[in-house]
Amino acid sequence: MNALAARIAGLIQAQGPLSIAQFMTMALHDPQYGYYATRDPLGAGGDFTTAPEISQMFGELLGLWIAQCWHDQGRPSPARLVELGPGRGTLMADALRAARLMPEFLAAIDIVLVESNPVLQALQRETLKDYPIGWSDHFEEPDRPLFLLANEFFDALPIRQFVKAERGWCERMIARDADGALAFALAPEPISPALLPPSRDGAPPGGVYETSPAATALAEQIAQSIARHGGAALIVDYGYGADAGFGDTLQAVGNHAFKDILDSPGDVDLSAHVDFAALAQAATRNGAAAFGPADQGEFLTALGIVQRAERLARGQLGRNPGIDSQLKRLVLPDQMGTLFKAMAILPQSAPKPPGFA
Ligand code: SAH
Repeated sequence: MNALAARIAGLIQAQGPLSIAQFMTMALHDPQYGYYATRDPLGAGGDFTTAPEISQMFGELLGLWIAQCWHDQGRPSPARLVELGPGRGTLMADALRAARLMPEFLAAIDIVLVESNPVLQALQRETLKDYPIGWSDHFEEPDRPLFLLANEFFDALPIRQFVKAERGWCERMIARDADGALAFALAPEPISPALLPPSRDGAPPGGVYETSPAATALAEQIAQSIARHGGAALIVDYGYGADAGFGDTLQAVGNHAFKDILDSPGDVDLSAHVDFAALAQAATRNGAAAFGPADQGEFLTALGIVQRAERLARGQLGRNPGIDSQLKRLVLPDQMGTLFKAMAILPQSAPKPPGFA
């Protein structure tokens, strides 16, 4: 048992089982041992690799997407560009470089990066030192149009799980087993089924319903801001649309492989599939329009990634060699092309954003 597991076990002994959301919050954000408080998880030497780290084309196309949305809404000035969970700052650097095609956009925006990880914040400061940027550790609604990017951010937000047991829907908790080790357990008392959406009725015995109150609340805030002041948000992540099943999607990843969820909290990344349908509902409930989710492969293809790849390959302008293999990784269905999805939130009055059928 590592130090954080021991601390969590002590807390459970004193106060009773934790929800999965509470466990995730401690494992990811404990100031001393939390996964996202202590390290740069990205890249070949880290635990996982993300689309902007695979290819500059990803950030470039997202940068052009957001500048186009700004243009389509009458080029509001001032406006704010926000990125949630910017990692190493790679996506933002590529997006801003591509957006130089629309210099009035760069002149109109201030930039805020929402980042809780001090190690990554330092990397972002270095990567983006040529740009005037502010940082925050949480999202705040701006007083102006909001243009927002988030790649692989929502999957890190804490989820709760409810399991269809014989006695009813019971929350899946983290308790201690007979030896004092961390173990999954169901809450003894079922919750009222009315707290779950009607689709719960299709669940088989043992089926799991997942919900992320943090993700829903954040989508609501973003949608309210965009409905009120204008703007556009693009959320890219791995997850499901209308086809949400009743599976357990909580996963631990370390060193590019799946790990046990409870063995070493703080040393491995924890994430779960993003429920895009829930985010879209949160957006429309708050007066905004939602688009997608579209499969990442289709979305990037509609934005012209194939043409961009050809140009980079011809001019050898790429940051890395192997443009063709980067393209395949981002777009092909058996790579990131269908598991990852893109969804957008815009004002109801705005024109349809690029990339969505
Ligand atoms: N978008 C980047 C990084 C993805 S990893 C990329 O695609 O490469 C998740 C990012 O979100 C990291 O930067 C992590 O530090 C940040 N993060 C995770 N949970 C957060 C939270 N609750 N508040 C702020 N930042 C968070």
